[in-house]
Amino acid sequence: MELLFEKSRKGRRCDLLPPLDVPPAHLMTGMERETPLDLPELSEVDLTRHYSALERRAHGVNSGFYPLGSCTMKYNPRINEELAALPGFTGVHPTQSADTAQGCLEVLYLAEELLCEITGMDAMTFQPAAGAHGEFTALLMVKKYHLDRGDTARTKILVPDSAHGTNPASAAMCGFTVVNVPSNPAGGVDLEALKAAVGPDTAALMLTNPNTLGLFDPNILEITQIVHDAGGLCYYDGANLNAVMGVVRPGDMGFDLVHLNLHKTFSTPHGGGGPGSGPVGCKKFLKDFLPVFHVEEGADGLEFKDPAKSIGSVKGFYGNFTVVVKALAYILTLGAQGIHEAAKGAVLNANYLREQLRGTYDIAYGDGPCMHEFVLTLHDLKKQTGVSAMDVAKALIDHGIHPPTMYFPLIVEEVLMFEPTETESRETLDEAAEVLKAIRAQADADPEAIHAAPHTTPISRPDEVKAARHPVLRYTPPEGQA
Ligand SMILES: *Cc1c(COP(=O)(O)O)cnc(C)c1O
Repeated sequence: MELLFEKSRKGRRCDLLPPLDVPPAHLMTGMERETPLDLPELSEVDLTRHYSALERRAHGVNSGFYPLGSCTMKYNPRINEELAALPGFTGVHPTQSADTAQGCLEVLYLAEELLCEITGMDAMTFQPAAGAHGEFTALLMVKKYHLDRGDTARTKILVPDSAHGTNPASAAMCGFTVVNVPSNPAGGVDLEALKAAVGPDTAALMLTNPNTLGLFDPNILEITQIVHDAGGLCYYDGANLNAVMGVVRPGDMGFDLVHLNLHKTFSTPHGGGGPGSGPVGCKKFLKDFLPVFHVEEGADGLEFKDPAKSIGSVKGFYGNFTVVVKALAYILTLGAQGIHEAAKGAVLNANYLREQLRGTYDIAYGDGPCMHEFVLTLHDLKKQTGVSAMDVAKALIDHGIHPPTMYFPLIVEEVLMFEPTETESRETLDEAAEVLKAIRAQADADPEAIHAAPHTTPISRPDEVKAARHPVLRYTPPEGQA
């Protein structure tokens, strides 16, 4: 596909900028360009077609099934985008005084109240820009909480081996030592291993429940009790709340802090790099440690307050505000009943697809029901046919399905992790099951074809290590066009 620079023709124009309606300002002398900027010159239709062609090459929730496990790639209603784009929300400036932006503060205040209700927390910050950033923020609060009590011995964070990779990374970034807690044969936390790991050096446990195997840990109350008895805090990785929102609350499971990914569960599209939002909620006794810019009721309305023992600032001002607007719109349109039903739909869809595949693929930890996602293990398939999880994932692309999450969680071999989400219809799930069955049959009949998939994309199988280690990020114009 030609780049805009290659499509450029001298003198071709489209007027995209409105006419200047303020006096022109001039740069300091000596700062002007000496040669004109070499920008592509195109008509409006050239531009539109270029970007539409690029869009068609990308797979999104709007183009087809996108069962990316642990990522909650669900449909995000357009109305929420429209609300977030209202001029009253986009035209404010972060440094204007709070009394001139009461509506915006009310959005933050109400979103905090509702998300605290959903999570069972007492207060929340919207400063963090993503899930990992929320983990980092919460762990800084954990650290400050212990130090504030004069307890300097708590240097360790317990992380189950099924945890999302960001958990140990965030703990390490906050200067903690990471202690791995193994899973039991049912896929939950091994209680004996946990008891052996906790102690006076435990700062906190980081846990995802349901975990990345899509399993709800039935021992959750005992787990949080064990950590609390040892003087540690319990932190809930709520990046994907899709299975439990409106059903059970992390606060009632014994957790003291939680982060959410508004860009997974609460209606902000993601996958393209943001903006996201990873709010952190906490119980009352941790409220004073929240980051600055917390919205509170003052004498003359809502105002920003810096909590008494705040960890400080983890991002400018109050975070990615319009993402919070979308989350609030989503919660208010669904209502308590709708939130509950969305969670039930997500769990039903995952179980439905999983049962369609039982017998064709091996389900890891497949004895009981799953929550919003499930994992297949292709270990035996690879041994029998040579077809790997990567091969199946690539083959799905030719059928218009985005590959599921691959090779994660790390405790399952040749793993594919599916999360259909509540927005998919039964027909879509049936189709996906048929495609996966056809790929399974082809693994016996013609494994070579699957090794070579995808066949329908401009690039088939890039060298992934090379693409990561030696990315070509610089455009080289074709000969004679420099
Ligand atoms: C996505 C995810 C994260 C990290 O969220 P980012 O916004 O990508 O930083 C953390 N934990 C779990 C379980 C996740 O699925």
